[in-house]
Amino acid sequence: MIRSVAVFGATGSIGGSALDVIARHPGRLRASVLAAGRDVDALVALCIRHRPDHAVIARDDALLDLRAGLQAAGLATVAHAGTAALDALAADPGACDTVVAAIVGAAGLDSTLAALRAGKRVLLANKESLVLAGALMMRAARDAGATIVPIDSEHNAIHQCLPADGDCSGVARIVLTASGGPFRGRGRESLAEVTPAQAVAHPKWSMGPKISVDSATLMNKGLELIEAHHLFAMPSDRLDVLVHPQSLVHSLVEFIDGSTLAQLGLPDMRTALAVGLGSPARIASGVSGLDLLQHGRLDFEAPDTDAFPCLALARAALVAGGTAPALLNAANEIAVSAFLQGRIGFLAIPALVEHVLDALPSGPAASLDALRDADQHARRVAGRAIDSGTVA
Ligand code: NAD
Ligand code: MG
Repeated sequence: MIRSVAVFGATGSIGGSALDVIARHPGRLRASVLAAGRDVDALVALCIRHRPDHAVIARDDALLDLRAGLQAAGLATVAHAGTAALDALAADPGACDTVVAAIVGAAGLDSTLAALRAGKRVLLANKESLVLAGALMMRAARDAGATIVPIDSEHNAIHQCLPADGDCSGVARIVLTASGGPFRGRGRESLAEVTPAQAVAHPKWSMGPKISVDSATLMNKGLELIEAHHLFAMPSDRLDVLVHPQSLVHSLVEFIDGSTLAQLGLPDMRTALAVGLGSPARIASGVSGLDLLQHGRLDFEAPDTDAFPCLALARAALVAGGTAPALLNAANEIAVSAFLQGRIGFLAIPALVEHVLDALPSGPAASLDALRDADQHARRVAGRAIDSGTVA
């Protein structure tokens, strides 16, 4: 049977990679729903190419534009707008059986949760939703019999290394690799003046602006620690981070018998997406195999938490639990957005996250509402600190 795939975040970096893999397998996969945040023209262009049944634009006011664009292109694709439409299509068994969750930020939570509650197969790139509400999402997936395939390259690597039956009792430790980002090796002082353009110029991966800045601050690896904790039910003290500048070893799993398994490959997200889209079969992704002779060497070093405090802040939030990861994530989203707009400097990103975590005590993450409140509260406190120049 052909898999019907909804690609949420279709106009983004992961969305583009997912559509590239889907288009290679017309007899096996089809893009049945495409969704984007704001860019109607880009979404229509993707619809012309992939001919989905449904197109969704998250902006409520863009429905007429989207409908007109689809009609002008002679497409039968049905236009939808707004987040309620997104959530409804995520859950609708007639619209898709698989959802690629590739919206950036906490904005991806509701549609991902809707897909999980409907028992879909979810290819999860949107790590912020897991950081914000990981326990709740994992429970929703279990209750509804949904499948989560991690798409973040490290977690996809771990997923490939872990026993297929899900029995993790033999796992001693998980080691997430990190490229170190564009500023690896630089001291803290030298980072004060770095620009958004320098921060998004990642040496190994081509990604959207938010995750690129997260990679530069190492917050990305911090978010990934929390992500791994939820996906693989691993406590913080069995999750380690190793900087590996070549980005060829995507992560490692150490077992209690002394074996370590790693997954290697070129830094191209289509491999992880193909694992999720084809599973249990291996399917072509367009990524070539690894020529280790050509690469020559694999280096590893410890992360520098002095120059990049975000990693330690995220670990502390993971250990604190409750709403702390939600507060961390929200503060970071506000900080990264302000940095990309040139409103605050690079070092203000960890400073702002720390400010919010100091200002707001972590509470119990008893419900989705409690987590949403924490998220909104952190955004307000972070916004005020930026506006008042408390953190610049
Ligand atoms: P991107 O900025 O390139 O794309 C983001 C997509 O989300 C776009 O299609 C945009 O239209 C959509 N979007 C943004 N706000 C939205 C909203 N409010 N409602 C609906 N749609 C919205 O980002 P990306 O690099 O593709 O990353 C997407 C997610 O995948 C992030 O959570 C990121 O951390 C994760 N991820 C990305 C990579 C990568 O290589 N790019 C690797 C691992 C994980
Ligand atoms: Mg990653």
